Amino acid sequence: MADGKKKSALDIIKSYDGPPVRIMEVCGTHTHEIFRLGLRQILPKEVTLISGPGCPVCVTPVSFIDEAIWLALERGVTICTFGDLVRVPGSEGSLATARSQGARVEIVYSPVDACSYAAAHRDEQVVFLSVGFETTTPAACLAVKEAAEQELTNFSILTANKTMPQAYEALKNSADVFLYPGHVEAVMGTKHCEGLAEQGISGVVAGFTAKELLTAFAVILAKFPQGKPFFKNCYPRVVTAEGSLPGQRLMAEVMEPCDSEWRGLGVIPMSGQRLQQRYAAYDARQKYGVPPMHGRSNPACRCGEVLQGICTPPQCPVFGRGCTPDHPVGACMVSHEGACSAYYQYGGGN
Ligand code: SF4
Repeated sequence: MADGKKKSALDIIKSYDGPPVRIMEVCGTHTHEIFRLGLRQILPKEVTLISGPGCPVCVTPVSFIDEAIWLALERGVTICTFGDLVRVPGSEGSLATARSQGARVEIVYSPVDACSYAAAHRDEQVVFLSVGFETTTPAACLAVKEAAEQELTNFSILTANKTMPQAYEALKNSADVFLYPGHVEAVMGTKHCEGLAEQGISGVVAGFTAKELLTAFAVILAKFPQGKPFFKNCYPRVVTAEGSLPGQRLMAEVMEPCDSEWRGLGVIPMSGQRLQQRYAAYDARQKYGVPPMHGRSNPACRCGEVLQGICTPPQCPVFGRGCTPDHPVGACMVSHEGACSAYYQYGGGN
């Protein structure tokens, strides 16, 4: 500035007069915090925010819900799951529907809780629904190791674990800049983000407070007009270049990469995590011979397009009418991290 004072993040944002920029908030928690803190109103009109695929429940495909229901109803297992998944519609109903048909469904707060449930209920076969990204996968690995140490024969997991870097590459044309999820990068470190910048994919790791988010937006708006791919870690109090080495080791010890289906994005090669063969006894698909499922989502639901930034939730014809948090038609309205739920809760327009 002419008076020699450094511009604040807010000054940079408010004085932006560069080219239009599409920023994808990969993480559902970012979507909610940006709404909750009123930051959308502060951003200049040149900024378009796109909600991305960073809500684990939202990207879990319909076929996974069908597999869980099959296990509960056809094999009589007890399903242990995070609460959000219970209301996600499968092809012909949700786990909540299956529960009314006699399925046993227990809500747990962690994979280790599910393992403890199995240890305390040896007369039941227990399957934990293992969804999530690098943030939750280490806990699933820990649960499997605990089950192995305790020689539990009534515990297994149904995996739909996913890894984010492959999704960034699959979505690179949907946005100009990624607002990388702080929680994922805290585990994985920022080296892969730096690698993506070298391939032309720009991004900024952001924290979750107003100050951290404003800083991240200011960095984007300062760097984007320069026209060169960039990366910046704006969450250094939590995220390092190396990430959490114990978490990474645990995943490498128990899981291995595999192709994975993402709701709306299709199969992304090597974007999933499944149990290594030496832990096959804890793999519910192998243990129970789960048949291939071809999930069908409600044709009215546009979750797939919402997750790619092709449309906003209010552009879905049933948003707020047939589809509400009390009566969700798609996963993005069920989950607290879902974009449709955020738009509904905070009254977001297009
Ligand atoms: Fe799917 Fe409901 Fe969102 Fe429409 S509003 S995309 S039906 S979750």
